[in-house]
Amino acid sequence: MPLDYKPAGICDFHVHIGEKISGYELRDDFPDLDRMAELNGIAGIGTFVTEESDLSLTVKLRKMQEKAKLNFKGKVHWHLTPVHTKTDELFPLLQEGWDLKFYTTYRESGLYCSYEQIEHWMVELSDIKTRMLVHCEDDQIITQASAEHPFRTPQDHTLRRPELAEIVAVEKILNLAIKHTHPIHIVHISSPKAAILVNEAKKEYPFITCETAPHYLIYNENRLSGINAHRWLCTPPFRSEESRGLLVELLQDGYFDILASDHCPFKLEDKDRFKDNLELVPCGIPGLETLYSSMFNNFVEPGIISQASLDEMTIHKPKTLMSCF
Ligand SMILES: [Zn+2]
Repeated sequence: MPLDYKPAGICDFHVHIGEKISGYELRDDFPDLDRMAELNGIAGIGTFVTEESDLSLTVKLRKMQEKAKLNFKGKVHWHLTPVHTKTDELFPLLQEGWDLKFYTTYRESGLYCSYEQIEHWMVELSDIKTRMLVHCEDDQIITQASAEHPFRTPQDHTLRRPELAEIVAVEKILNLAIKHTHPIHIVHISSPKAAILVNEAKKEYPFITCETAPHYLIYNENRLSGINAHRWLCTPPFRSEESRGLLVELLQDGYFDILASDHCPFKLEDKDRFKDNLELVPCGIPGLETLYSSMFNNFVEPGIISQASLDEMTIHKPKTLMSCF
């Protein structure tokens, strides 16, 4: 059934746009975003600025802000990933209200941040308590699982990045946040156990929030078999049907503060270039355009969640996390 309700004011807190990821330019830049936003009622996004070796975080942020101003009518909240930048240089940017994004994995692309480093940032930022978004997958578990499971088919992705990696990293990051009373937001939760851990912590510590993405609620690992399955590779990977079903139950019980797409579209030729060498396929799928409609069609229409609850997770709550509103 098609969506018969035209939403307005959707805010997608997790969108990759106008950046290079894994060496590839993303398919969408701000003019594409503007077109998609207009068609789909999107009022604002949270997007990422990742420091590059030859471009300081401040310069890159200013360039991207300029591009956004010229090309996108909606509002933009910025998530910053420093690689070399130190706290002193970061302060002015953080005082503008932007937050930080760290990864407990992706050593090969230079994004990896150890638990110790994340704790160090929490100590350094103890005065201003800047929210940290954290991509939680334990790198040690992934390294070991990847060594045990060669990447022969797209479905191997699920064995190479198991749920346990997410669960362990979530537990460690929650402990750090609680120890330092530091606001954190756990991105794209794909494992029910991780969602349960976050929810337990949230009851006592309201500065903890989390999101999941529609694709973990709609698809399971079977999507990674068959023709052109490599195009569906994203990280974390799709999970078992049992996990997907449990995640939907947790969604119904209000475990997720927000739904965000983790929109990360690559050009088809870049997705296809290494389809016979799966380790090199860039991981990410689009989702911004269907954030609301896919949730409406799959979960509101059949009466699994209410429209008010979908609106809360895609319109009202994300706005409270974005300093551009
Ligand atoms: Zn992402």
